[in-house]
Amino acid sequence: MRALVYQNNELRFTRDHSVPTKPKYNEALIRVTHAGICGTDLEITKGYMGFQGVPGHEFVGIVESCGEERFVGKRVVGEINVGCGVCPSCLNRRRNHCPNRSVLGILNKDGAFAEQLTLSNKNLHLVPDLVTDEEAVFVEPLAAAFEITQQIPLRPTDKVCVMGDGRLGLLVSQVLALTGCNLVAAGRYEEKLAIVKERGIDTTCNPDFPQNEFDVVVDCSGSAAGFDLARKWVKPRGTIVLKTTVAEREAVDLNSLVIDEVTVVGSRCGPFAPALRALAMKSVDVRPLIEKTFPLEEGVEAFHYASQKGALKVLLRI
Ligand SMILES: [Zn+2]
Ligand SMILES: [Zn+2]
Repeated sequence: MRALVYQNNELRFTRDHSVPTKPKYNEALIRVTHAGICGTDLEITKGYMGFQGVPGHEFVGIVESCGEERFVGKRVVGEINVGCGVCPSCLNRRRNHCPNRSVLGILNKDGAFAEQLTLSNKNLHLVPDLVTDEEAVFVEPLAAAFEITQQIPLRPTDKVCVMGDGRLGLLVSQVLALTGCNLVAAGRYEEKLAIVKERGIDTTCNPDFPQNEFDVVVDCSGSAAGFDLARKWVKPRGTIVLKTTVAEREAVDLNSLVIDEVTVVGSRCGPFAPALRALAMKSVDVRPLIEKTFPLEEGVEAFHYASQKGALKVLLRI
């Protein structure tokens, strides 16, 4: 089948990648229709996780075969962490943290930049008719944005800052705005912040906030310097949410966190169902985030395009 493959430090397009082996018990075979390139995919082509194989974890597709009849022939998106099913994490519904997990297109499992993939039935979610393929590709990163509201209480009177106007920052701003909190989105590019400004969210390109201004600061900056700024802006007893993973993290002044009793929350993958509901109800708009769509054949070029500074979401049409 056609696929993008990352191997021996090289990403290439091939027409003869072997089709996924007959799905295991409790697995579905899915024909991918669209997939999205995200920061993690770009990192993978720099050696992140030592991954070899087909990358890609943000996708929508049609189920070709599956033990569960209700999925067959239907449009689905899929959660990306596949747990072992028997460890304490898996048995306590925390398969995202299974120590033996594989992760679609990231860890020990071929991903979505190919004609077909296999995924556990447990990971599948039907896509409502009101949600287009292009929108459905955003369910995975949008779920990661919803994870924040799953982890910390956000009161409507809270003052909240989302740092970063990249793909994730713009999704997080929209999701946190749904709580009614007093929100400002801080970034670098006026034209990108305009996407959330049009939805009534306060934005700033010159974040010159006084010290201790916010109850909650969410770092989607994608840079190591983000944490220091978050630390400066958060109030005593406030919360810093870290959405950014950076290769090089500088030393952090932990004493100031102790003195000001600041809570730091790491935040990764999130719940798919609310993300699908938000798209169906149009309470979040992901369409302005689509920068360009490439056919799978031009996947290598699409990666180059996506890695340009300031690029928004690049999609692959499979
Ligand atoms: Zn991603
Ligand atoms: Zn497990």
